Amino acid sequence: MSIHDRRYSFHQGFSMDNALDFSKRSSFKREILLEKFYPSRIILPMKMNYGEAAVPTVRVGEKVTIGQCVGAPNPGSFAVPVHSGISGEVKEIRNITLPNSVTCKAVVIESDRKRTYHPSVYPRADVNISASKVRGIVKDAGIVGMGGEGIPTIAKINMARRSGVDRILVNCLQSEPYANCDYMRISESPEYIVMGAVALAGAVGVKRIDFLIPDSRKEEISALQNAMQMSAGDYSGYIFNFKYFKDRFPQGYYALVAKALYGVDLGEGETLESRCKAVMFNCSTVYSCWEAIADNMPLSSRIISISGDDEPGHNVLVPIGTPVSEILNNVNSNIKTSKKLIWGNCLTGLEIKDPDNTPVIKTTSAISVISRKEFPTTPCIRCFQCEDACPMGLEPALLHNLLKRGLEFSAQDEGIRKCIACGSCSYVCPAAIDLTGVIASYAQKLNKNPEHPDKLGFTEHTKINIGSVSLLETFEEDEEYQTEEGGDDNMVLPFEGGKLI
Ligand code: SF4
Ligand code: SF4
Repeated sequence: MSIHDRRYSFHQGFSMDNALDFSKRSSFKREILLEKFYPSRIILPMKMNYGEAAVPTVRVGEKVTIGQCVGAPNPGSFAVPVHSGISGEVKEIRNITLPNSVTCKAVVIESDRKRTYHPSVYPRADVNISASKVRGIVKDAGIVGMGGEGIPTIAKINMARRSGVDRILVNCLQSEPYANCDYMRISESPEYIVMGAVALAGAVGVKRIDFLIPDSRKEEISALQNAMQMSAGDYSGYIFNFKYFKDRFPQGYYALVAKALYGVDLGEGETLESRCKAVMFNCSTVYSCWEAIADNMPLSSRIISISGDDEPGHNVLVPIGTPVSEILNNVNSNIKTSKKLIWGNCLTGLEIKDPDNTPVIKTTSAISVISRKEFPTTPCIRCFQCEDACPMGLEPALLHNLLKRGLEFSAQDEGIRKCIACGSCSYVCPAAIDLTGVIASYAQKLNKNPEHPDKLGFTEHTKINIGSVSLLETFEEDEEYQTEEGGDDNMVLPFEGGKLI
């Protein structure tokens, strides 16, 4: 980049340089290598995505291999397939409740330590395939947004095509303390991210690809630039741009990207696609798309960051479904002395109560180990740091107060619906008030069901219909991909209609 390149950002939020001490200490050493971990068992929930649950396609006692589909969507449902990241035997199929309160069936697989791959997992001889084939592969590989929301990538592609977008944005804006797994993914596999971006642009039907990345990430920028040069012969007509951002939390949210890049405040019902003619994919998701295309490997493993206020920081490549306790014991974490384990990032993650039975899922980018004592909650001192930090321009202290007093309509008038659950207000509050917990949970209920916010719940399909679904290993390359009527193409995504995730 040159000094003339523009640096994008939004107002408020906070810079990591000014954040609390422990976030500074959480920064990872660049030379730390990616550790790979093979667990003794995995627990694969059938619902790791926005939408509905898949149904198990295997039975107890069955042998499975790496890359094999063990859960598939009911026809017409908004679910995604689930694949095993280890070889072994199905020991159990049972109900599980995840820290995000999702309850679904889970397939428990015990490793045979052989690491046998499914015969369908092989490098594709010719990756010069049609856009419809790319869409079919992305769908059947069970790929979802890995940056947190878990929206099936095929649904995003379909929405982008309906909206007539003219570019894709590759989101390399990981900004939360304790996590840098996306940057590790870029360092490890920049060529997969570049080629995945080309494939997704082709699937959407556009030629322009913008990489969004903090200007401080010089090594990752250079890795991507080198990969573009080296693979330039593999594509033609695609236009790459870098959009450099300031380091600021929570920079990667789609509404804040719209604000920073295009100066647009997305109104109710507006999306990045409809208003800005752009669709955004997380860089780890983009990697997984190319892994499915080039290696025929479905989404069955991911990099997660293990870090915390008293942890050196690790990035670990794990099969999806690996229990949290197995990873932490393996990396010599301070699990025994920790005060709190967080499923996800320290600002937006959820507390883990049972690390033996809580798995890494497709959207888990971090496990945060918190060792320091929590400060006791004290009354609000009216410092308004929460107001200064809120990226959506809300007044968290006021909203919290209104909700506490039962004045929900007044909170709605103050714009509570706009809350993106970023955690910034709680993070900066010196009185340790759980502002995010109170405000974001009400906003999410309201956005999902404005009429009856108390009657929310996840729909779980129990009717098993094995054999009539398209799995990665049975995907016909010559078959024109069709979206089923009533299926994901007609799905209302969480950010449509003013809704949030
Ligand atoms: S940051 Fe905390 S103490 Fe300060 S105004 Fe907001 S709620 Fe009150
Ligand atoms: S959690 Fe909601 S209210 Fe708090 S800072 Fe983020 S957007 Fe604002």
